[in-house]
Amino acid sequence: MASETGKKRVVVVGGGLAGALAAKSLQSHADVVLIDPKEYFEITWAGMRAKVEPSVANRMVVKHSDYFTNGRLAMSSAVGVTDTEVLTADGESIPYDYLVIATGHNDSFPKTKSERVEQYQAEYNKIESADSILIIGGGPSGVELAGELAVDFPGKKVTLVHSRERLLDFVGPKASKKALDWLTKRKVEVVLGQSVDLKSHTDGDKMFKTSTGETIVADIHFFCVGRPLGSSWIRNSVFEEALDAQGRVMVDEHLRVKGRKNVFAIGDITDIPEMKQGYLAQTHAVLVAKNVKLLMEGGNESKLRKYKAGSDMAIISLGRKEALAQFPFATLIGCFPGLIKSKDLFIGKTRKTMGV
Ligand SMILES: Cc1cc2nc3c(=O)[nH]c(=O)nc-3n(C[C@H](O)[C@H](O)[C@H](O)COP(=O)(O)OP(=O)(O)OC[C@H]3O[C@@H](n4cnc5c(N)ncnc54)[C@H](O)[C@@H]3O)c2cc1C
Repeated sequence: MASETGKKRVVVVGGGLAGALAAKSLQSHADVVLIDPKEYFEITWAGMRAKVEPSVANRMVVKHSDYFTNGRLAMSSAVGVTDTEVLTADGESIPYDYLVIATGHNDSFPKTKSERVEQYQAEYNKIESADSILIIGGGPSGVELAGELAVDFPGKKVTLVHSRERLLDFVGPKASKKALDWLTKRKVEVVLGQSVDLKSHTDGDKMFKTSTGETIVADIHFFCVGRPLGSSWIRNSVFEEALDAQGRVMVDEHLRVKGRKNVFAIGDITDIPEMKQGYLAQTHAVLVAKNVKLLMEGGNESKLRKYKAGSDMAIISLGRKEALAQFPFATLIGCFPGLIKSKDLFIGKTRKTMGV
């Protein structure tokens, strides 16, 4: 079925890095509706820099209207889906001919860019006036934040508590050890194998209890524990069977949702066996945009592009000049990997990809 303009209707659910690029790539070929609860997306990996240099927030928070100029943004959350429509929290039913699921992770960020930029400024103000800072979580966010603080605020006492036995458990043990050594050399106190109970903590209280009963004193804290997957809206829907045990969407080699001809999934929400990385999420978006175009134009299914899982590669920035990189052939730390990521954090590159 086509819309009033005669074009096919494509609905993209989730406007993170993956959904944003899919919506941008399809906007001149179809009637595209992008469903996202906010008016912007973030270049996520620059977020820790924006906490220590708030002017960065203006560049890493990008309004959907800056690149999505030929479609409609439905600023709401998807709460359900049928074979033909997506239902939103605002009570809208948005029909589709093709659906792209890109709801990676849930977040609870403010709706407008200006509020989000103010939030980064407020976090910076908090850091500036604190003497001691507690970071809860030793994944990429926690480690990158510890790196930024160690480099920009070397006089502050930084403690990082991680519930697992090694930092950054999504990379190999060698990379974890290098990150630990780098942080401890810069006087970050790293506490492994313990968690912090925030339920019994009241705002303003400077004492934090760990799971083994230790007390950590800190003026402020940052909660850097992974966000939940954004698949709750798919549960109890016609696509429920496409979710795996973790809540990821199972896709085939063309990135179509298992058993569906006109529904695709991209980015962190997919079950593709590879590291969950933004640059891979963008590769999914480009491939799916091509596949949707092919199907809209009546192309032969045999011409659909196939996706090959990406190799295990990750770069974790450690302040402004250094980084830790895990490549398939080696693990490196210091200024060389830092040259790849840490100065501009791929902000310029990502903005260019989005045409802003
Ligand atoms: C600190 C850190 C550093 C990183 N560094 C790198 C790096 O250097 N390189 C790299 O490639 N990757 C990096 N990553 C990973 C990268 O950020 C993710 O892989 C990427 O953000 C995934 O994009 P996505 O669009 O799939 O999901 P997300 O970015 O999670 O976006 C999902 C979007 O969907 C929306 N959404 C969720 N539920 C709903 C719903 N029900 N209805 C409507 N919208 C919904 C959300 O609000 C959000 O806008 C890093 C991540 C972190 C945390």
